[in-house]
Amino acid sequence: MAVLLSILGSGSAFSGCGANASALLDERVMVDAGSPAHLLLPRLGVRIHDIDLVLLTHFHMDHSGMLPLLLGALAHSDEPPEPGRLTIAGPVGTRELIERLTVAGFGGPTQRRIDDRVAPRYVVLHDGSDVQIGESRVRSHAVVHATGPSLAYSVTRSGLRVGFSGDTTLCAGVRRLAGEVDALVCECSGPDAPVGGGHLWRGEVAELIEDNPGVRFVLNHLAAPVSIPGALVAHDLLTLELTA
Ligand SMILES: [Zn+2]
Repeated sequence: MAVLLSILGSGSAFSGCGANASALLDERVMVDAGSPAHLLLPRLGVRIHDIDLVLLTHFHMDHSGMLPLLLGALAHSDEPPEPGRLTIAGPVGTRELIERLTVAGFGGPTQRRIDDRVAPRYVVLHDGSDVQIGESRVRSHAVVHATGPSLAYSVTRSGLRVGFSGDTTLCAGVRRLAGEVDALVCECSGPDAPVGGGHLWRGEVAELIEDNPGVRFVLNHLAAPVSIPGALVAHDLLTLELTA
């Protein structure tokens, strides 16, 4: 069985080399919502109605800021979405953040329309969570990033484990994640040297690759083009078919 991995956005927060962080598994599961998924999903031939799980790694806008637009696009779609189909999972506070962004950005009527028409189900995840959500097994690892809770995930589908580092330093959480997955979408914010803000740079990613030779690395959250032997470098709308 194969798992389809698409990168919607490959760029770091403020760089010009790619849209912000979002990835897609099997045209159903989105990890992070920093890029305009309501625009990019159709370019991959995916309907916004098909998404049944959104996982947020943390609350920085380049990972979560576009989720209200996806929810609004569903709520205002000519084709009514199936209420309750979509699950949104993330660190404690995810629901409060998304609803506050939605109300602040678009007003109460839009939030009520989302509540009525989309009716997303929220799931709180934390370090060590190991839960089945639909067809995905989701394990969560706390990682050290900046402010607020930050989680990295492994998502198992069709027997294949795909990891998503989110934003992180070279901490115990991301090392655990790399040790349990078949493929890892790994941030690489620093192309040449260590960077601030709680991120990985090329030298640290190379260390992770060396420590986990059986893992296929896909680098994203790029501030500039980067090259590391043994890793694939993402670009926006890159799609890969992963097999065990
Ligand atoms: Zn980021």
